[in-house]
Amino acid sequence: MTLIEALEFYQDALRDLHEANERIDVARDLLLKVAETIKDEERLELANFLYWKLEFPRKKIEEVLRLDQTKNRWITPQERKISCRECRRTFIKKLPSKWALKERSFWAECCEECSRKRKEEREKESALYKEHDLEREARIKELRSMPYREYLETPEWKAIRDQALHYAHYRCKLCYSRGPLHVHHRVYRNLGAEYHSDLVVLCESCHSKYHEKSAPPARAC
Ligand SMILES: [Zn+2]
Ligand SMILES: [Zn+2]
Ligand SMILES: [Zn+2]
Repeated sequence: MTLIEALEFYQDALRDLHEANERIDVARDLLLKVAETIKDEERLELANFLYWKLEFPRKKIEEVLRLDQTKNRWITPQERKISCRECRRTFIKKLPSKWALKERSFWAECCEECSRKRKEEREKESALYKEHDLEREARIKELRSMPYREYLETPEWKAIRDQALHYAHYRCKLCYSRGPLHVHHRVYRNLGAEYHSDLVVLCESCHSKYHEKSAPPARAC
């Protein structure tokens, strides 16, 4: 085939396409004109046929058949086969509109069984969290009600204290010396769950100087 022949072949195909487009425009206008005269009880069926099978735009259908999806809910959902995201089994899902086809979330669904399993797992997890929270709450209550000296011996305080020292790079916040170091409470209100800002790492001498200047410690540091 020569280049000229190939070009002509292409041009012919293009002409056919234009002709087909013109014919489909005429056919659409004709169809819509006839559709306007259709009986009321057949309108919904026709509208759905045009929408799902003939790919008519929704706006055009609503205009000609005097429908409104937001008011009439005329689009009848279609059933589609979907492969479950989890178990890969095929299941049937209702497709509410053509737009849903484009939404990833429509295709990324789980079958009923997998969804139920998921839900159960989530519920179990949240129950565990709740239990854990309650335990923690109770423990904090306990820590706050015990004598302060006793609190300073608990594994909770030891962990918080170690963390404060670690954050301070094991140096006094005021003179930068390496110690011996104390972890001083600026406030006591979060006992058992102290914030980083509640505490300050001080060396022994800075600590005693600090307490000389300010009021004596409420609970001995
Ligand atoms: Zn599944
Ligand atoms: Zn110091
Ligand atoms: Zn102190």
